[in-house]
Amino acid sequence: MQVSLNGPQEAKAQSVVRHNWHRGEIKALFDLPFNDLLFRAASIHRQYFSPNEVQVSTLLSIKTGACPEDCKYCSQSGHHNTGLEKEKLMAVAEVIKEAKAAKAQGASRFCMGAAWRSPRAKDMPVVLEMVREVKALGLETCMTLGMLDEKQAQALADAGLDYYNHNLDTSREYYTTIVTTRTYDDRLTTLAHVRDAGMKICAGGIVGMGERREDRIGLLQQLANLPQHPESVPINMLVKVEGTPLGDSDDLDPLEFVRTIAVARILMPTSYVRLSAGRQQMDDSTQALCFFAGANSLFCGERLLTTENPTLNKDEQLFSRLGIQPLVQQDAQSDEHLHAELTGQVAEQKGLYYNAMAK
Ligand code: SF4
Repeated sequence: MQVSLNGPQEAKAQSVVRHNWHRGEIKALFDLPFNDLLFRAASIHRQYFSPNEVQVSTLLSIKTGACPEDCKYCSQSGHHNTGLEKEKLMAVAEVIKEAKAAKAQGASRFCMGAAWRSPRAKDMPVVLEMVREVKALGLETCMTLGMLDEKQAQALADAGLDYYNHNLDTSREYYTTIVTTRTYDDRLTTLAHVRDAGMKICAGGIVGMGERREDRIGLLQQLANLPQHPESVPINMLVKVEGTPLGDSDDLDPLEFVRTIAVARILMPTSYVRLSAGRQQMDDSTQALCFFAGANSLFCGERLLTTENPTLNKDEQLFSRLGIQPLVQQDAQSDEHLHAELTGQVAEQKGLYYNAMAK
């Protein structure tokens, strides 16, 4: 399929929020000359966001290792021998101490991750208390705890959880090469419960796992054709962990990673596209290209659950060299109102009910 490019006007016309992307259209975007793709993505980015602001979150592992799932990239899976020391669920007071430190370092959102298939009944009161107390600090809250049923999703929403992270990882076709202990549809069901409970969604995937470009296309199509786009779309570059089945995967061309960011930006113009795992292995120029291509969110802090991340100082220096400012929470909220307005129009047209935006 041919994608013509006649400058910002055409980019604007084509950046209407859509939920009916065909793979051929997405392939045509991936196939554009690199400069044309980045120009289009950057033009769309500027319609919806300030191009020099990046939302910053901090991620804490609140329960580490011994996960019963078999995700082939993950250091925390009990199926792989990575030498990771497993840890029990952290105490609420410890989590709050970390959240205060994250806030002092400029994070607007505090994300808490537990290596579970799904939360157990006895863990729920503890995680709900974490949500309430982190929220009381004035931070946005996000959790990733595995699969949720309807009641768990509602309990988290009632406690004040803003975002729930649950990634699709890759295309439906490639998924069973990567994970066999939960299905693609299990993941989509959890996302539906999160939406129905009124929370915002953080959902993306990982590239560089040996998948083909068609799988990156399939992943982005799946995300972009959800009834409502995830508010946050993390795009991870595989961090190769020794002892995992993907520990010696071939490197993905960094420019293909930038292309993936750019296409995500075009398909989901009002979402925050997050540069997630893999930044430690990425040079500054690649990260700069990602920001130009529409990435506008990242994790700061020296660890991402169990893998290394650039130090705060290194990020500050990069932001300073690029003239990028961390987004303050107030701005994030007004951007979410913009997101609500834009996606609400589409929702009304389609007669769909968008819980998250109604609250
Ligand atoms: S990615 Fe999550 S669910 Fe999969 S093994 Fe790791 S901690 Fe468990």
